[in-house]
Amino acid sequence: MATERKTLALIAHDGKKADMVAFALAHKDVLLRYELVATRTTGQLLTDKCGLNVHQMLSGPLGGDAQIAAQVAEGVIEAVFFFIDPLGKHPHDPDIQTLLRVCNVHDIPLATNAATASFIISTRAL
Ligand code: PGA
Repeated sequence: MATERKTLALIAHDGKKADMVAFALAHKDVLLRYELVATRTTGQLLTDKCGLNVHQMLSGPLGGDAQIAAQVAEGVIEAVFFFIDPLGKHPHDPDIQTLLRVCNVHDIPLATNAATASFIISTRAL
């Protein structure tokens, strides 16, 4: 029987997408061990720039964060790396708040910046 791989969710606001690509390249060896889901634009970038195989949900503003929040609630996401741009305005802020809340409700590791994500992934705790 095939071992079921754990799933990580990767999301980056536009102002943080470069950080996400740099993070993914730096930790590609670890990320390759997981199933990856991402919002559409983030996922496309990770595929194109990092060569990662990423299951793409809808773009964040079109409901992708809400889709990932639902997966967190269903217990299929091991950790969420969501690089938030605190200086940007986001039309889908209610969905963003939902995703953060659901992570906290279910005690799912949640990194909202590259430093925390690097720390989590370096501990090999996932
Ligand atoms: P995106 O969505 O990856 O489709 O840009 C991210 C977001 O803004 O939530």
